[in-house]
Amino acid sequence: MFDKRTWIKLPRNVVVGHDVLGELGEAVGELSLSGPALIVTSPTPDRLAGDRVRAQFDDPETVSIEEARFDTIEEVVEVARATDAGFLVGLGGGKPIDVAKTASDRLGVGFVSVPTAASHDGIVSGRSSIPEGDTRHSVAADPPLAVVADTELIAEAPWELTTAGCADIISNYTAVKDWRLAQRLKNVEYSEYAGALSEMTAEMLVDNADSIKKDLEESAWIVVKALVSSGVAMSIAGSSRPASGAEHLVSHQLDRIAPGRALHGHQVGVASIVTEYLHSGEDGQWRAIRDALASIDAPTTADGLEVTDEEFLEALTTAHTIRDRYTILGNGISEAAAREAGRVTGVI
Ligand SMILES: [Zn+2]
Repeated sequence: MFDKRTWIKLPRNVVVGHDVLGELGEAVGELSLSGPALIVTSPTPDRLAGDRVRAQFDDPETVSIEEARFDTIEEVVEVARATDAGFLVGLGGGKPIDVAKTASDRLGVGFVSVPTAASHDGIVSGRSSIPEGDTRHSVAADPPLAVVADTELIAEAPWELTTAGCADIISNYTAVKDWRLAQRLKNVEYSEYAGALSEMTAEMLVDNADSIKKDLEESAWIVVKALVSSGVAMSIAGSSRPASGAEHLVSHQLDRIAPGRALHGHQVGVASIVTEYLHSGEDGQWRAIRDALASIDAPTTADGLEVTDEEFLEALTTAHTIRDRYTILGNGISEAAAREAGRVTGVI
């Protein structure tokens, strides 16, 4: 009996470009959502764009958050209930977007993403990353109904946020390799379409690396488009597999071992140099990944992430324990092997 079935949840309106913030009201109006908007933001994006966003809705409420934590999500859920919010608008970098996405899912109301930085693929995807204690949870949620990414605004964000977004995309190479490996060894379901889209996204970004430069708005355009197609690949797959493999596990461990030192995208970028080496050896593509990261000013060493060699090695040798996701790390790599991989690739 043929019993396959699949749900693909995608954003309906994706608006990307110069000065498109003013089209937010229209992009949301087309969705036929009812009830007032609750804008979830944090102090800096609120100052930069809050008024322009509020002006496009009737009687919007605003909640400004400082941190992305589970109790912050609870707080937003309570405000949304008290104000009868019909939908939530996440305005900001990672934190307000992750919190608004998760709170919307909890409330069963629509979520609209208005990123002011392109630092990771969460601006489009159906996943949120929420820190709790000394760890981070990757929480599943519906992807945004609409994404309005104003490249003029994003180009004004600190440059390292953009390079982190680029590095998050470059790491798709190794994520897809891990996914294929898991299919071969563990019979994990693999989508050719999602895998190819994710790889192509990383390739396009690397091919355009010369146009990714500080103070060049086109950089924001290239990165946001890549983050959108990476998010679509995850929607098609129905999992984060196309964009998250062993390099993400290592990054999650770094969050625990050395919290707050480096950005998510930078961590996964450095880790993917090593996991590419583990996949294909000394003559593999790890140099290409390293050079692509270097060309956009993203870190390529543990030192560049402001973690010690020992901290990086601890993350690498323990990453397999944190999630039931089969990758090139298998049941764990030995400390000697980790040290050798770090040494050959120059990461440590
Ligand atoms: Zn990521």
